Amino acid sequence: MIDWEHNPSRTLPAKLKRRMTQWRHAAPAIISGDKFHVSFTFDDFPLSAVNGADIVEKHDGKAAFYACTKMIGETGPYGKMYDIATMLDLENRGHEIGAHTHSHMDCALTDRLTVLEDIKTNLRHLAEAGLKNRPTSLAYPYGETLYDTKKEVFEQFDLCRGILPGTNLGKVDLAQLRCYELNGNPMTENRAKNAIEAAGKTGGWVIIFTHDVSDEPTGFGTTSKLLTDLAQQAVSLGATLSTPTQAAKEFGVIA
Ligand SMILES: [Zn+2]
Repeated sequence: MIDWEHNPSRTLPAKLKRRMTQWRHAAPAIISGDKFHVSFTFDDFPLSAVNGADIVEKHDGKAAFYACTKMIGETGPYGKMYDIATMLDLENRGHEIGAHTHSHMDCALTDRLTVLEDIKTNLRHLAEAGLKNRPTSLAYPYGETLYDTKKEVFEQFDLCRGILPGTNLGKVDLAQLRCYELNGNPMTENRAKNAIEAAGKTGGWVIIFTHDVSDEPTGFGTTSKLLTDLAQQAVSLGATLSTPTQAAKEFGVIA
């Protein structure tokens, strides 16, 4: 069973632990400001996230979908989840399919070996589904991990993404990249807009993540209109809308 209700602890010790993990870079790299990329990413992922792919394509870009394989064909709090045909179609359209664990576990609350085993299962299911490319990136469910875990998980990927907000510029951790969430809270909209605005001046790499995309999204998702506005804003400020792996290659931090 998927634990759709899981909510990482908001207690102070839990928050501090998250910060500590975030600060300990397992894969340090430097992102220079001479380029500007915005990556739109969709986690889990609901079928309606395909609307996100359409919007990004209209702005000459590609997006990424972090596929939790246990959710295939399920119905979650944000509606019907993806099916294999949809995922393969997105890959054919040039979007990136990334790993997101098989069972959507909180990798900060699970022992390292179990996490590694679950990721192996995730990759196996994706391969068996007919995915052409082995995923080169992973997004941590809830953005959560621990230092030893992220170090070892990173050995299997070119990049891993967390969910703590921030623009990836200067010193970054390729094992837990920063990212702006879009959800029902209007604060997240402003944060993303401001980040894109600022990166228009400094350069750098803004990653956005959300779940469902529709005219009436759940509290976990966003509207097609906001996504269109952000894509337009980014492109008008000179950004390229790239998948995380494409962006990392453009910044020269991966081969
Ligand atoms: Zn997730």
